[in-house]
Amino acid sequence: MPSLFDGASSRIEAALEHTTISDDIAQQLAQPDTALKVSVPLRHDDGAMKLYPGYRVRYDNTLGPSKGGIRFHPDVNADEVSTLAFWMTMKCAVLNLPFGGGKGGISIDPKQLSPAEMERLSRAYIDKVADFIGPDTDIPAPDVNTNPRVMGWMMDQYRIINRAEERAVITGKPVEMGGSLGRTTATGDGAFHALQTMMQRWGRKAQGATVAVQGFGNAGQQFARLCADAGYSVVAVSDSRGGIYDANGLDLDAVAKAKQSEGSVTDAQGEKLSNEEVIALDVDVLAPAALESVITAENSADVRARVIVEIANGPVASEADATLVNNGVQVLPDILANAGGVTVSYFEWVQNRQAWYWDAETVAERLESRMVDATQRVAERANALDIDYRTAAYVLALEKLESAARARGTSA
Ligand code: GLU
Repeated sequence: MPSLFDGASSRIEAALEHTTISDDIAQQLAQPDTALKVSVPLRHDDGAMKLYPGYRVRYDNTLGPSKGGIRFHPDVNADEVSTLAFWMTMKCAVLNLPFGGGKGGISIDPKQLSPAEMERLSRAYIDKVADFIGPDTDIPAPDVNTNPRVMGWMMDQYRIINRAEERAVITGKPVEMGGSLGRTTATGDGAFHALQTMMQRWGRKAQGATVAVQGFGNAGQQFARLCADAGYSVVAVSDSRGGIYDANGLDLDAVAKAKQSEGSVTDAQGEKLSNEEVIALDVDVLAPAALESVITAENSADVRARVIVEIANGPVASEADATLVNNGVQVLPDILANAGGVTVSYFEWVQNRQAWYWDAETVAERLESRMVDATQRVAERANALDIDYRTAAYVLALEKLESAARARGTSA
Protein backbone atom coordinates (compact mmCIF):
# COMPACT_ATOMS: atom_id res chain seq x y z
CA MET A 1 0.00 0.00 0.00
CA PRO A 2 1.39 3.46 -0.84
CA SER A 3 1.91 5.88 2.06
CA LEU A 4 -0.82 8.47 2.55
CA PHE A 5 1.53 11.06 1.10
CA ASP A 6 2.39 9.01 -2.01
CA GLY A 7 -1.31 8.40 -2.58
CA ALA A 8 -2.02 12.12 -2.29
CA SER A 9 0.72 13.09 -4.72
CA SER A 10 -0.60 10.60 -7.27
CA ARG A 11 -3.57 12.96 -7.71
CA ILE A 12 -1.21 15.66 -8.97
CA GLU A 13 0.07 13.21 -11.56
CA ALA A 14 -3.51 12.41 -12.63
CA ALA A 15 -4.23 16.14 -13.02
CA LEU A 16 -1.02 16.75 -14.96
CA GLU A 17 -2.42 14.63 -17.77
CA HIS A 18 -5.01 17.36 -18.32
CA THR A 19 -2.99 20.53 -17.91
CA THR A 20 0.54 21.71 -18.50
CA ILE A 21 2.40 23.29 -15.66
CA SER A 22 6.12 23.83 -15.50
CA ASP A 23 8.32 21.15 -14.08
CA ASP A 24 9.58 23.67 -11.52
CA ILE A 25 6.24 24.04 -9.79
CA ALA A 26 5.48 20.32 -10.10
CA GLN A 27 8.77 19.63 -8.32
CA GLN A 28 8.11 22.29 -5.73
CA LEU A 29 4.79 20.64 -4.89
CA ALA A 30 6.29 17.16 -4.61
CA GLN A 31 7.39 17.65 -0.99
CA PRO A 32 6.82 20.03 1.91
CA ASP A 33 8.72 23.29 1.98
CA THR A 34 9.53 23.16 5.71
CA ALA A 35 8.72 20.61 8.40
CA LEU A 36 9.24 21.02 12.13
CA LYS A 37 9.24 18.12 14.56
CA VAL A 38 9.12 18.87 18.28
CA SER A 39 8.66 17.05 21.57
CA VAL A 40 5.76 18.49 23.54
CA PRO A 41 6.12 18.06 27.32
CA LEU A 42 2.99 17.48 29.36
CA ARG A 43 2.79 17.30 33.13
CA HIS A 44 -0.17 14.98 33.74
CA ASP A 45 -2.59 15.56 36.61
CA ASP A 46 -1.08 12.62 38.49
CA GLY A 47 2.31 14.35 38.44
CA ALA A 48 3.87 12.23 35.67
CA MET A 49 5.78 14.09 32.93
CA LYS A 50 5.52 12.72 29.39
CA LEU A 51 6.76 13.90 26.00
CA TYR A 52 4.54 13.67 22.94
CA PRO A 53 5.68 14.04 19.30
CA GLY A 54 4.43 17.28 17.78
CA TYR A 55 4.61 18.57 14.20
CA ARG A 56 4.04 21.67 12.13
CA VAL A 57 4.50 21.65 8.37
CA ARG A 58 4.50 24.59 5.98
CA TYR A 59 3.87 22.79 2.74
CA ASP A 60 3.92 25.65 0.27
CA ASN A 61 3.62 29.44 0.48
CA THR A 62 3.33 30.46 -3.16
CA LEU A 63 -0.11 31.97 -2.61
CA GLY A 64 0.56 33.45 0.83
CA PRO A 65 1.30 32.43 4.43
CA SER A 66 0.64 28.76 5.14
CA LYS A 67 -2.73 27.98 6.65
CA GLY A 68 -4.14 24.87 8.25
CA GLY A 69 -5.32 23.21 11.41
CA ILE A 70 -3.74 21.44 14.36
CA ARG A 71 -4.86 17.88 15.06
CA PHE A 72 -4.67 15.97 18.36
CA HIS A 73 -4.91 12.25 17.62
CA PRO A 74 -2.91 9.11 18.48
CA ASP A 75 -2.34 8.38 14.75
CA VAL A 76 -0.75 11.77 13.98
CA ASN A 77 2.65 11.29 12.33
CA ALA A 78 4.99 13.16 9.96
CA ASP A 79 3.57 11.53 6.81
CA GLU A 80 -0.01 12.38 7.76
CA VAL A 81 0.76 16.00 8.72
CA SER A 82 2.60 16.58 5.42
CA THR A 83 -0.28 15.08 3.48
CA LEU A 84 -2.84 17.21 5.30
CA ALA A 85 -0.66 20.29 4.66
CA PHE A 86 -0.49 19.37 0.96
CA TRP A 87 -4.28 19.15 0.81
CA MET A 88 -4.52 22.57 2.48
CA THR A 89 -2.28 23.98 -0.28
CA MET A 90 -4.61 22.63 -2.96
CA LYS A 91 -7.74 23.68 -1.05
CA CYS A 92 -6.67 27.30 -0.58
CA ALA A 93 -5.76 27.43 -4.28
CA VAL A 94 -9.16 26.08 -5.40
CA LEU A 95 -10.97 28.63 -3.22
CA ASN A 96 -8.72 31.50 -4.39
CA LEU A 97 -7.65 32.25 -0.80
CA PRO A 98 -4.41 34.21 -0.32
CA PHE A 99 -2.85 31.35 1.64
CA GLY A 100 -0.50 28.48 1.17
CA GLY A 101 -0.98 25.16 2.98
CA GLY A 102 0.14 24.09 6.43
CA LYS A 103 -0.82 21.64 9.13
CA GLY A 104 0.20 20.62 12.61
CA GLY A 105 -0.55 18.02 15.18
CA ILE A 106 0.37 16.12 18.30
CA SER A 107 0.40 12.36 18.51
CA ILE A 108 -1.71 11.91 21.65
CA ASP A 109 -5.14 10.60 22.62
CA PRO A 110 -6.97 13.72 23.85
CA LYS A 111 -9.93 11.65 25.04
CA GLN A 112 -7.71 10.53 27.95
CA LEU A 113 -6.90 14.11 29.02
CA SER A 114 -8.59 16.35 31.60
CA PRO A 115 -9.40 19.96 30.58
CA ALA A 116 -6.41 21.15 32.62
CA GLU A 117 -4.12 18.68 30.79
CA MET A 118 -5.55 19.83 27.44
CA GLU A 119 -4.73 23.43 28.32
CA ARG A 120 -1.16 22.63 29.39
CA LEU A 121 -0.64 20.57 26.23
CA SER A 122 -1.98 23.34 23.97
CA ARG A 123 0.24 25.96 25.61
CA ALA A 124 3.28 23.66 25.53
CA TYR A 125 2.77 23.08 21.80
CA ILE A 126 2.80 26.85 21.15
CA ASP A 127 5.94 27.20 23.31
CA LYS A 128 7.60 24.80 20.85
CA VAL A 129 6.31 26.21 17.54
CA ALA A 130 6.01 29.95 18.36
CA ASP A 131 8.95 30.92 16.15
CA PHE A 132 7.54 28.93 13.24
CA ILE A 133 4.04 30.45 13.14
CA GLY A 134 2.81 34.02 12.73
CA PRO A 135 0.07 36.04 11.00
CA ASP A 136 2.28 36.56 7.93
CA THR A 137 4.02 33.18 7.91
CA ASP A 138 1.85 30.31 9.11
CA ILE A 139 -1.61 30.52 10.69
CA PRO A 140 -2.98 27.51 12.62
CA ALA A 141 -6.65 26.65 13.17
CA PRO A 142 -8.76 23.80 14.57
CA ASP A 143 -8.75 20.29 13.11
CA VAL A 144 -9.71 16.86 14.47
CA ASN A 145 -10.12 17.00 18.31
CA THR A 146 -9.20 20.67 18.60
CA ASN A 147 -11.78 23.45 18.99
CA PRO A 148 -12.21 27.17 19.74
CA ARG A 149 -11.21 26.65 23.37
CA VAL A 150 -7.90 25.09 22.34
CA MET A 151 -7.33 27.92 19.83
CA GLY A 152 -7.99 30.45 22.60
CA TRP A 153 -5.35 28.88 24.86
CA MET A 154 -2.93 28.80 21.96
CA MET A 155 -3.44 32.44 21.01
CA ASP A 156 -3.08 33.41 24.66
CA GLN A 157 0.21 31.52 24.93
CA TYR A 158 1.47 33.28 21.79
CA ARG A 159 0.59 36.59 23.50
CA ILE A 160 2.53 35.60 26.63
CA ILE A 161 5.60 34.64 24.58
CA ASN A 162 5.52 37.77 22.41
CA ARG A 163 4.22 40.14 25.09
CA ALA A 164 1.68 41.42 22.58
CA GLU A 165 -1.78 40.35 21.47
CA GLU A 166 -1.74 39.06 17.89
CA ARG A 167 -5.19 37.83 17.07
CA ALA A 168 -4.52 37.00 13.43
CA VAL A 169 -1.95 34.33 14.36
CA ILE A 170 -4.63 31.67 14.87
CA THR A 171 -8.17 31.28 13.54
CA GLY A 172 -11.14 29.39 14.87
CA LYS A 173 -10.84 31.21 18.21
CA PRO A 174 -13.72 31.83 20.61
CA VAL A 175 -15.75 34.84 19.41
CA GLU A 176 -14.85 36.65 22.68
CA MET A 177 -11.18 36.48 21.66
CA GLY A 178 -11.58 37.67 18.08
CA GLY A 179 -13.07 34.56 16.50
CA SER A 180 -15.43 35.01 13.57
CA LEU A 181 -19.13 34.43 13.80
CA GLY A 182 -20.02 31.38 11.72
CA ARG A 183 -16.62 29.68 12.00
CA THR A 184 -17.79 26.65 14.00
CA THR A 185 -20.47 25.71 11.48
CA ALA A 186 -18.45 26.76 8.41
CA THR A 187 -17.17 23.34 7.27
CA GLY A 188 -20.63 21.76 7.38
CA ASP A 189 -22.20 24.86 5.82
CA GLY A 190 -19.67 24.90 2.99
CA ALA A 191 -20.11 21.19 2.23
CA PHE A 192 -23.85 21.73 2.04
CA HIS A 193 -23.44 24.66 -0.40
CA ALA A 194 -21.17 22.52 -2.59
CA LEU A 195 -23.73 19.70 -2.63
CA GLN A 196 -26.66 22.03 -3.35
CA THR A 197 -24.79 23.72 -6.19
CA MET A 198 -24.12 20.36 -7.82
CA MET A 199 -27.65 19.07 -7.22
CA GLN A 200 -28.95 22.12 -9.03
CA ARG A 201 -26.56 21.54 -11.94
CA TRP A 202 -27.62 17.89 -12.15
CA GLY A 203 -31.30 18.86 -12.01
CA ARG A 204 -31.81 16.63 -8.96
CA LYS A 205 -34.14 17.37 -6.08
CA ALA A 206 -33.25 17.37 -2.39
CA GLN A 207 -36.75 16.34 -1.40
CA GLY A 208 -36.66 12.67 -0.44
CA ALA A 209 -33.02 12.11 -1.45
CA THR A 210 -31.33 9.93 1.18
CA VAL A 211 -28.15 10.85 3.06
CA ALA A 212 -25.72 8.88 5.25
CA VAL A 213 -23.10 10.72 7.31
CA GLN A 214 -20.08 8.78 8.55
CA GLY A 215 -18.64 10.79 11.47
CA PHE A 216 -20.85 12.92 13.68
CA GLY A 217 -18.42 15.60 14.86
CA ASN A 218 -18.85 19.30 14.33
CA ALA A 219 -18.86 19.26 10.51
CA GLY A 220 -20.83 16.03 9.98
CA GLN A 221 -23.51 17.10 12.42
CA GLN A 222 -23.99 20.53 10.86
CA PHE A 223 -24.13 19.04 7.36
CA ALA A 224 -26.72 16.46 8.46
CA ARG A 225 -28.92 19.17 9.99
CA LEU A 226 -28.79 21.39 6.90
CA CYS A 227 -29.63 18.40 4.69
CA ALA A 228 -32.62 17.49 6.88
CA ASP A 229 -33.85 21.11 6.88
CA ALA A 230 -33.61 21.20 3.07
CA GLY A 231 -35.80 18.10 2.67
CA TYR A 232 -33.22 15.32 2.38
CA SER A 233 -33.87 12.23 4.46
CA VAL A 234 -30.86 11.60 6.72
CA VAL A 235 -31.20 7.84 7.17
CA ALA A 236 -27.87 6.97 8.83
CA VAL A 237 -25.13 8.56 10.90
CA SER A 238 -22.16 7.03 12.65
CA ASP A 239 -19.25 7.82 14.95
CA SER A 240 -16.18 5.86 16.02
CA ARG A 241 -18.38 3.44 17.99
CA GLY A 242 -20.71 2.58 15.07
CA GLY A 243 -23.79 3.84 13.32
CA ILE A 244 -27.59 3.90 13.42
CA TYR A 245 -30.09 3.67 10.60
CA ASP A 246 -33.76 4.56 10.12
CA ALA A 247 -35.26 4.20 6.65
CA ASN A 248 -37.78 6.95 7.50
CA GLY A 249 -35.09 9.45 8.49
CA LEU A 250 -33.41 9.87 11.87
CA ASP A 251 -34.47 12.30 14.59
CA LEU A 252 -31.27 14.36 14.55
CA ASP A 253 -32.06 16.19 17.80
CA ALA A 254 -32.29 12.85 19.58
CA VAL A 255 -29.06 11.66 17.93
CA ALA A 256 -27.23 14.85 18.90
CA LYS A 257 -28.46 14.42 22.48
CA ALA A 258 -27.18 10.85 22.60
CA LYS A 259 -23.80 12.05 21.29
CA GLN A 260 -23.45 14.83 23.90
CA SER A 261 -21.05 14.46 26.83
CA GLU A 262 -18.87 11.55 25.68
CA GLY A 263 -21.86 9.60 24.38
CA SER A 264 -22.33 7.92 21.01
CA VAL A 265 -24.91 8.17 18.23
CA THR A 266 -25.43 4.45 18.76
CA ASP A 267 -27.23 5.25 22.02
CA ALA A 268 -30.07 6.86 20.01
CA GLN A 269 -33.09 5.02 18.54
CA GLY A 270 -32.48 3.21 15.27
CA GLU A 271 -31.14 0.02 13.74
CA LYS A 272 -27.46 -0.51 14.69
CA LEU A 273 -24.92 -0.61 11.87
CA SER A 274 -21.14 -0.84 11.67
CA ASN A 275 -19.16 1.93 9.97
CA GLU A 276 -18.47 -0.46 7.08
CA GLU A 277 -22.20 -0.98 6.65
CA VAL A 278 -22.79 2.78 6.62
CA ILE A 279 -20.29 3.11 3.78
CA ALA A 280 -22.08 0.42 1.78
CA LEU A 281 -25.61 1.83 2.25
CA ASP A 282 -27.81 2.33 -0.80
CA VAL A 283 -28.25 6.10 -0.41
CA ASP A 284 -28.13 9.09 -2.73
CA VAL A 285 -25.46 10.93 -0.74
CA LEU A 286 -22.69 9.49 1.42
CA ALA A 287 -20.73 12.04 3.46
CA PRO A 288 -17.60 10.66 5.13
CA ALA A 289 -16.87 13.28 7.80
CA ALA A 290 -14.32 11.69 10.13
CA LEU A 291 -10.80 10.61 9.20
CA GLU A 292 -8.83 9.74 6.07
CA SER A 293 -8.88 6.48 4.08
CA VAL A 294 -12.25 5.05 5.08
CA ILE A 295 -13.04 4.22 1.45
CA THR A 296 -10.22 2.07 0.18
CA ALA A 297 -9.33 -0.35 -2.62
CA GLU A 298 -10.99 -3.08 -0.51
CA ASN A 299 -14.43 -1.54 0.03
CA SER A 300 -14.74 0.95 -2.88
CA ALA A 301 -16.76 -1.53 -4.96
CA ASP A 302 -19.29 -1.80 -2.10
CA VAL A 303 -20.19 1.90 -2.30
CA ARG A 304 -23.75 2.22 -3.62
CA ALA A 305 -24.18 5.96 -3.05
CA ARG A 306 -24.61 8.13 -6.16
CA VAL A 307 -22.63 11.00 -4.63
CA ILE A 308 -19.82 11.18 -2.08
CA VAL A 309 -19.29 14.50 -0.30
CA GLU A 310 -15.82 14.43 1.25
CA ILE A 311 -16.30 16.43 4.45
CA ALA A 312 -13.23 14.85 6.05
CA ASN A 313 -9.78 15.33 4.57
CA GLY A 314 -8.83 12.36 2.41
CA PRO A 315 -11.66 9.94 3.26
CA VAL A 316 -11.31 8.31 -0.16
CA ALA A 317 -7.89 6.70 -0.53
CA SER A 318 -6.30 7.30 -3.93
CA GLU A 319 -6.42 3.55 -4.70
CA ALA A 320 -10.24 3.79 -4.58
CA ASP A 321 -10.52 6.62 -7.14
CA ALA A 322 -10.67 4.47 -10.28
CA THR A 323 -13.37 2.11 -9.00
CA LEU A 324 -15.60 4.99 -7.93
CA VAL A 325 -15.15 6.78 -11.27
CA ASN A 326 -15.86 3.55 -13.19
CA ASN A 327 -18.96 2.88 -11.09
CA GLY A 328 -20.28 6.37 -11.82
CA VAL A 329 -20.04 7.60 -8.22
CA GLN A 330 -19.68 11.39 -8.29
CA VAL A 331 -17.13 12.51 -5.69
CA LEU A 332 -17.16 16.11 -4.46
CA PRO A 333 -13.53 16.20 -3.37
CA ASP A 334 -12.30 17.34 0.04
CA ILE A 335 -10.27 20.22 -1.39
CA LEU A 336 -13.57 21.73 -2.52
CA ALA A 337 -16.26 20.21 -0.29
CA ASN A 338 -14.67 20.86 3.11
CA ALA A 339 -13.17 24.25 2.22
CA GLY A 340 -15.84 26.20 4.10
CA GLY A 341 -13.79 25.96 7.30
CA VAL A 342 -10.65 27.55 5.93
CA THR A 343 -12.72 30.09 4.00
CA VAL A 344 -14.26 31.45 7.21
CA SER A 345 -10.80 31.20 8.80
CA TYR A 346 -9.68 33.56 6.05
CA PHE A 347 -12.60 35.87 6.94
CA GLU A 348 -11.51 35.70 10.59
CA TRP A 349 -7.94 36.63 9.70
CA VAL A 350 -9.19 39.58 7.63
CA GLN A 351 -11.45 40.75 10.48
CA ASN A 352 -8.61 40.43 13.01
CA ARG A 353 -6.28 42.50 10.86
CA GLN A 354 -8.85 45.20 10.35
CA ALA A 355 -10.22 44.95 13.90
CA TRP A 356 -13.59 45.33 12.21
CA TYR A 357 -16.06 42.52 12.78
CA TRP A 358 -18.75 41.29 10.42
CA ASP A 359 -22.26 40.22 11.39
CA ALA A 360 -23.36 36.60 11.00
CA GLU A 361 -25.32 37.32 7.78
CA THR A 362 -22.30 38.87 6.09
CA VAL A 363 -20.13 35.86 6.96
CA ALA A 364 -22.82 33.43 5.76
CA GLU A 365 -23.40 35.29 2.47
CA ARG A 366 -19.70 35.57 1.66
CA LEU A 367 -19.11 31.91 2.50
CA GLU A 368 -21.97 30.79 0.28
CA SER A 369 -20.83 32.96 -2.59
CA ARG A 370 -17.25 31.61 -2.42
CA MET A 371 -18.41 27.99 -2.17
CA VAL A 372 -20.89 28.30 -5.02
CA ASP A 373 -18.30 30.03 -7.21
CA ALA A 374 -15.61 27.39 -6.53
CA THR A 375 -18.06 24.52 -7.08
CA GLN A 376 -19.20 26.01 -10.40
CA ARG A 377 -15.61 26.48 -11.54
CA VAL A 378 -14.74 22.87 -10.66
CA ALA A 379 -17.88 21.54 -12.37
CA GLU A 380 -17.29 23.62 -15.50
CA ARG A 381 -13.68 22.48 -15.79
CA ALA A 382 -14.71 18.86 -15.24
CA ASN A 383 -17.30 19.15 -18.04
CA ALA A 384 -14.91 20.96 -20.39
CA LEU A 385 -12.19 18.33 -19.96
CA ASP A 386 -14.56 15.38 -19.48
CA ILE A 387 -12.91 14.41 -16.20
CA ASP A 388 -14.06 13.74 -12.64
CA TYR A 389 -14.50 16.57 -10.13
CA ARG A 390 -11.43 15.70 -8.09
CA THR A 391 -9.10 15.82 -11.06
CA ALA A 392 -10.75 19.07 -12.19
CA ALA A 393 -10.21 20.62 -8.74
CA TYR A 394 -6.52 19.63 -8.88
CA VAL A 395 -6.21 21.11 -12.38
CA LEU A 396 -7.62 24.44 -11.12
CA ALA A 397 -5.33 24.41 -8.06
CA LEU A 398 -2.21 23.61 -10.10
CA GLU A 399 -2.96 26.32 -12.63
CA LYS A 400 -3.51 28.87 -9.87
CA LEU A 401 -0.24 27.91 -8.17
CA GLU A 402 1.62 27.93 -11.44
CA SER A 403 0.49 31.42 -12.43
CA ALA A 404 1.32 32.77 -8.95
CA ALA A 405 4.76 31.12 -9.07
CA ARG A 406 5.37 32.67 -12.49
CA ALA A 407 4.31 36.08 -11.19
CA ARG A 408 6.83 35.77 -8.37
CA GLY A 409 9.52 34.76 -10.82
CA THR A 410 10.29 31.44 -9.19
CA SER A 411 9.05 29.41 -12.12
CA ALA A 412 10.61 29.15 -15.57
N1 GLU B 1 -8.72 22.01 9.63
C1 GLU B 1 -9.55 22.62 8.64
C2 GLU B 1 -9.25 22.03 7.27
O1 GLU B 1 -8.75 20.95 7.17
C3 GLU B 1 -9.52 24.14 8.67
C4 GLU B 1 -8.19 24.79 8.46
C5 GLU B 1 -8.20 26.30 8.69
O2 GLU B 1 -9.23 26.84 9.04
O3 GLU B 1 -7.14 26.89 8.54
O4 GLU B 1 -9.59 22.60 6.26
